[in-house]
Amino acid sequence: IQWYPGHMNKARNQLEEKLNLIDVVIEVLDARIPSASRNPMISELVGDKPHLIILNKTDLADPVMTKLWQKKLQGPRTLVMAMDAQHNTNMQALITLIKKAASEKVKKLEERGASNPIIRVCLVGVPNCGKSTIINRLVGRNVTMTGDRPGVTKGQAWLKTPYGIQILDTPGILWPKFEDQEVGYKLAAFGAIKDTIFHADDVALFVIRQLRQYYPAYLAKFANCTKDKLENIGDTDLLLAMTQNNGMREDYDRFSLFMLQRLRKGKLGRISLDWPSANNEN
Ligand code: GDP
Repeated sequence: IQWYPGHMNKARNQLEEKLNLIDVVIEVLDARIPSASRNPMISELVGDKPHLIILNKTDLADPVMTKLWQKKLQGPRTLVMAMDAQHNTNMQALITLIKKAASEKVKKLEERGASNPIIRVCLVGVPNCGKSTIINRLVGRNVTMTGDRPGVTKGQAWLKTPYGIQILDTPGILWPKFEDQEVGYKLAAFGAIKDTIFHADDVALFVIRQLRQYYPAYLAKFANCTKDKLENIGDTDLLLAMTQNNGMREDYDRFSLFMLQRLRKGKLGRISLDWPSANNEN
């Protein structure tokens, strides 16, 4: 998969330029793939600035995994919260946490005589993890386009909110670990990479393998077969059987896309594909 478009580089450079104006870096992760959706350079980028991680789309993620990730990502200068921006949960908690993250700076400014200093934040994350949705919630109106396609966020400006917080609207900066094919599949599975730059059936087969291992009951239900049958059928044969059962003959690609769309919408179940472990923190 070829997935490092030039505009991502540009976005990073623009962000680096503005970073000295920013009080809190808000890193938005897809709660279903907190590791794959992390930018390995984020800690370099953040430096010793306050850092807030949002595990978003928790309504779609495996709640057990979300809890584990929340614990795992927490650090001395890193606050973590889980939310479902789509359904507007935890907004007040987010505002409180932003203020908490910026409290040192605010205190310093207040000591110098400023009253209610503005807190400036930026949101970073892979395409489609929910940055625009969160920004819209904070700002209280639709300032940026949101959609199911990756890479919709465009342009840069300071956006005002009613909470004394201003937001830098910045395009999603992706960066993953290129060399890791599995990361690519996970990002593709959840829509962070455009559907046109990978083969849907490769991603569907990857998903089938993962579900077989971690969520066999969900896979059996989606495939409309028993768990026993599942154990006796190979991945490719299963994909073929599901394609035919859905009246798509041998059009794997079409069925695969259908399956990925169901997965992304949570119709297969609440599924997470990154598992926190001792040596897998980012
Ligand atoms: P961006 O590319 O990071 O700006 O992502 P968007 O804000 O455009 O969100 C991408 C898609 O995910 C949109 O269809 C949103 O409605 C949806 N979305 C965002 N946050 C959530 C969430 O917490 N739960 C669910 N179910 N969908 C979400």
